[in-house]
Amino acid sequence: MINAAVYVRISSDVTGEGLGVARQEADCRALAEAKAWTVMEVYRDNDTSAYSGTRRPGYERLLTDIEAGTVRAVVAWHGDRLHRSPKELERFIDLAERTGLRVETVKAGTIDLSSASGRAVARTLGAWARFESEHKSDRIRRKLTDNAAAGLPHGGMRPFGWEADRRTIRESEAAVLREAYARVLAGEPIRALVRDFNARGLLNASGRPWRHPTLREVLLHARHAGLRTHNGTVVGDADWPELVAPESWRALTRVLNDPARVTTPGRAGRLNLLSGIATCAVCGASLRVGHSRGVRAYRCTLNGCVSRTRDLLEQFVTNVMVARLSRPDALSLLAPGDDGGARREAEGAAERVRQRLDDAAASFAAGNLTTRQLEVITSQLKPELAALEAAAAPPADRSTVLGKLVSTDNVARVWESTPPDVRRAAIALLMEIKVGRARRGPGFDPDTVFIDWR
Ligand SMILES: [Zn+2]
Repeated sequence: MINAAVYVRISSDVTGEGLGVARQEADCRALAEAKAWTVMEVYRDNDTSAYSGTRRPGYERLLTDIEAGTVRAVVAWHGDRLHRSPKELERFIDLAERTGLRVETVKAGTIDLSSASGRAVARTLGAWARFESEHKSDRIRRKLTDNAAAGLPHGGMRPFGWEADRRTIRESEAAVLREAYARVLAGEPIRALVRDFNARGLLNASGRPWRHPTLREVLLHARHAGLRTHNGTVVGDADWPELVAPESWRALTRVLNDPARVTTPGRAGRLNLLSGIATCAVCGASLRVGHSRGVRAYRCTLNGCVSRTRDLLEQFVTNVMVARLSRPDALSLLAPGDDGGARREAEGAAERVRQRLDDAAASFAAGNLTTRQLEVITSQLKPELAALEAAAAPPADRSTVLGKLVSTDNVARVWESTPPDVRRAAIALLMEIKVGRARRGPGFDPDTVFIDWR
């Protein structure tokens, strides 16, 4: 049997809000019982009383008894009940190390003060507690953390797609968001969507026309996938419904954060049709437009292996595209062979990896893993997760990009009136373009441009 002490403190700081000593004590006693520890005594302090000042007679007596060896374990509701400052924490750590004291908390689990990582956790918790007590009036932040943990929404302006209660979907706006997700995943740039939305008179949550950064930010918001974030990190499932599938949201964040994504027009304001889409058949690098002897040309960005006059290559690809879309079976392009089973399998595997990452973080917080062990686990699982998430991404919604092009009997004319970035999206969706070394001689040799249909 281990002789344990329960320590409770009522205070005026915000972390103690609404949490009475009785509740703290009951929780601590239950925890001690679960550990098969014998509670010898409950030490109490009341920081709120005017005459107690900053001294804590209960805490001081507890330290004396630990030193004397009559107390071998301490149960507290949270680390911040025990220590109010880093100085107090260091004194406690020193004492715990000397006496082999065991510490359990109801809210923060085991605080293993005998290990470096456990002490690091205790210090982190302590730093947080100090921040809180130094900002007693700053209840908002505390509230946000509580809300984040409970899956409740943050306050603030109404998010687009949601009612003012922040948990009810506003269907008229949700439809716009779902369309935007589908189009971006099909390869359309945000800029094209902004133009289209404003042409249709759609307004953002502030009742203003859309702008590129606003729409991008709105689409990246995890809340649409029913996920809760805190300080930019997803912390768990929210208590509101999903407006889009989490797989779609994850796929979109990958697309928008992909550095290879080219959406800015060149200096002349002209979008190069094949930049970042066509690749070098020799080394696999992407092609970009540059000047070559006074002519604009696509060039291998890595080694300069290949080069093609821009206008000739674009004209060739456009001809191939229009010819393909003009075929009687063009509609079949909207429904490519889709292996939904493999996608679901990848999503299941991704979920299991996410669970393992969560478990590792929890083990670390509980002091069962060192920082180094956590790093090793994380660095192994993160790439695995990224690959699985990519495999789980839903297929691009082709009809949003190709719909008009495959339902006309004059593809060439519709192609001409299609905005450049939608053309790019259509090409990226359907074609894999590899450019090989050109044969010597004048003119454009289409035999060294390899187009595969996706
Ligand atoms: Zn190359």
